[in-house]
Amino acid sequence: MEKQIVLLPGDGIGTEVIKSAKKVLEAIAEEYHHTFTFTVHAIGGSAIDSNGDPLPPSTVEACKKADAILLGAVGGPKWDQNPSHLRPEKGLLGIRKALDLYANLRPVKAFEKLLHASPLKADRVQGSDLLIVRELTGGLYFGTPSERRDDGKSVVDTLAYTRTEIERIVDKAFQCAQGRKKHLTSVDKANVLESSKLWREVVEQKKADYPEVEVEHLLVDAAAMKLITNPTHFDVIVTENMFGDIISDEASVLTGSLGMLPSASLREDGVGLYEPVHGSAPDIAGQGVANPIGMILSAAMMLRHSFSLNEEAEAIENAVQSVLDNGYHTPDLRMHNGQKAGTKEMTDLIVDHIKTAS
Ligand code: ATP
Ligand code: MG
Repeated sequence: MEKQIVLLPGDGIGTEVIKSAKKVLEAIAEEYHHTFTFTVHAIGGSAIDSNGDPLPPSTVEACKKADAILLGAVGGPKWDQNPSHLRPEKGLLGIRKALDLYANLRPVKAFEKLLHASPLKADRVQGSDLLIVRELTGGLYFGTPSERRDDGKSVVDTLAYTRTEIERIVDKAFQCAQGRKKHLTSVDKANVLESSKLWREVVEQKKADYPEVEVEHLLVDAAAMKLITNPTHFDVIVTENMFGDIISDEASVLTGSLGMLPSASLREDGVGLYEPVHGSAPDIAGQGVANPIGMILSAAMMLRHSFSLNEEAEAIENAVQSVLDNGYHTPDLRMHNGQKAGTKEMTDLIVDHIKTAS
């Protein structure tokens, strides 16, 4: 298979962990006989420095032509005082919008070796393995009007969805559930919100297309509680933009470190942008200690969701699992024993495992 991949390293540890993802993908290409072509483009703070723009037009053009995009992270203290149009985050929001990335996928898995790194009780998080599918381009964050009124004495935000917008995200979630444990939890607030009532209606209609998938509806408040009290209950969760924003951060505490978590943002034709959940981590940038796993697992998601290379994606996930099982860990993964490794060593161990296992 031949694929064009755009790399957007961005800032801080983004530039370090993206090298890890590239190395891993090169190993996959070699072992499974694919041709991946990589081109690097500027985004975020470093793009402000080089091009005077957090999202240069040349970057947008390259991303529009690519089969998939890998992004490191953007931002850092150097640009904190910049005016709003010259903030690194503008680049990230801009690229999501330019590509119409409507579906945000965030898997959260509690790795056996990291159970004690979670603030929750180990026996409660043990076995947790869930996927949050969040609608990313509609709802409260994009509705109009959104403004202050009457000289600041009142405010309004608007939560709007079309049936079509709900259908495409619900459909994506059903497809994901079909490929996993076939359990879908739809999260809404249908006892209060009109938008949630339509949401529930769409989920009920879509059920017929996926007879193998078991479906349940949970109110968002109950879901928030259940994520902490009984996380192993969940397989795939689908929800609207703001609820998804909140519960995906909540779910992230199930894993030991922010550095472990991958994400995907997808367009309808399967093109996607893949990035770790963590930010640019200025406090550890340049030290070679950043955990590359969130970025590497994002590359695995790219293989699965944009290229349908499931076996190759699993090879990466198995390699990560195996390296952790062997006790290797970056400093953020406060493991009690085992062997500390830096970004490069962790990456090389994962690459070695891919090569020997295939
Ligand atoms: P942003 O605003 O970009 O989301 P943030 O300050 O909220 O940034 P991060 O940049 O992700 O969040 O950093 C939060 C903390 O987690 C920092 O202490 C950072 O060092 C740590 N951290 C984040 N990612 C990693 C990683 N990959 N490896 C090790 N530590 C990490
Ligand atoms: Mg943050």
